[in-house]
Amino acid sequence: MKLSDLGEFGFIDRIARKYPTKNPSILKGIGDDSAVISLSKGLIVLLSTDQLIEGFHFNLEITDGWKLGWKSLAVNLSDIAAMGGVPIGFCLSLGIPSQRISIEFLDDFYKGITSLGERTGVELLGGDTSEGGERLTISVSVLGKASQGKVIYRQGGKDGDNLYVTGYLGDAALGLKLLKKGVYKKGMENIINRHLCPEPRTRTGQLLAERGIPNAMIDISDGLLADLNHLVNQSGVGAEVDLCLLPLSTEFRAWAAVYEPNPINLALRGGEDYELLFSASPEKSEEVDRLSKELSYPITYIGKLSRKIKGIVVKDEKRKIKEVQPLGFDHFRDG
Ligand code: ADP
Ligand code: MG
Repeated sequence: MKLSDLGEFGFIDRIARKYPTKNPSILKGIGDDSAVISLSKGLIVLLSTDQLIEGFHFNLEITDGWKLGWKSLAVNLSDIAAMGGVPIGFCLSLGIPSQRISIEFLDDFYKGITSLGERTGVELLGGDTSEGGERLTISVSVLGKASQGKVIYRQGGKDGDNLYVTGYLGDAALGLKLLKKGVYKKGMENIINRHLCPEPRTRTGQLLAERGIPNAMIDISDGLLADLNHLVNQSGVGAEVDLCLLPLSTEFRAWAAVYEPNPINLALRGGEDYELLFSASPEKSEEVDRLSKELSYPITYIGKLSRKIKGIVVKDEKRKIKEVQPLGFDHFRDG
């Protein structure tokens, strides 16, 4: 059997089915943004890992050591945020092509990763170092904590829930597009940085969980539709997304108006925004608006969950309902 037939998520499902966890303290193994372990009464430990491989996740022609360091931790913190957890520390393993990668580059990398660590109260706990051969390989594991009963899973979405997304969609995908084309337009720095050094929504995730607002939550790493698809599948409901409500940044809109023939596609399928997508009961809508004001940061209503819908549908600009394929990035299908 070929991996491309199974796809990345088919492969992960296969592993999860073959090796279910047995220890009752493990509340969630494979299948969410972080593993969830109940260590002692009231205390939950969260553990998550993500790797970045040169040529697949990054390209040293369009980033630098500092930004790469920042991003390596950011993508991991995003998974702890998606559970509503508080990150504590991280381990960092590097496979380094020693003939090509300089000490100065690595010093910058460590400055970048620890800058985000200081900002979020997360410390470097250890790691592993090896010759990397052809590609620089970065693997980060983050440890976090949460209170019993406050962890938010992908699977908790309910019929009638409102769907919300933090921040803006599509910026990171547009940033990558601009970097690949070598277009460095003035005024697009924010968009480019959304791809190179994303901001994990650590505080937003914690506040949402502390206040018991979401029923289900996931971070958007593979694109809105792909990640919403995980949330709806695990929650056993469908979703309707209103395309007119998708939050697009001012810079994104300005660029799209002139150069982008299908901006909605970038917002729906472009990955790496590392925003949070959550569902909450309609009674929580005022609390969501209050939190958004408190954070001076958009948290936007984009649609609803419904058990009457199968999979995901979108409402387009003409108010027509259309089925969509929730495809996002898949390592074994998109290379
Ligand atoms: P995320 O995008 O939030 O990092 P992934 O899609 O990478 O999540 O992973 C989904 C789930 O599958 C997570 O629980 C992750 O720990 C698990 N997972 C991914 N790859 C593997 C693997 N090779 N072996 C075991 N579990 C895996
Ligand atoms: Mg995730």
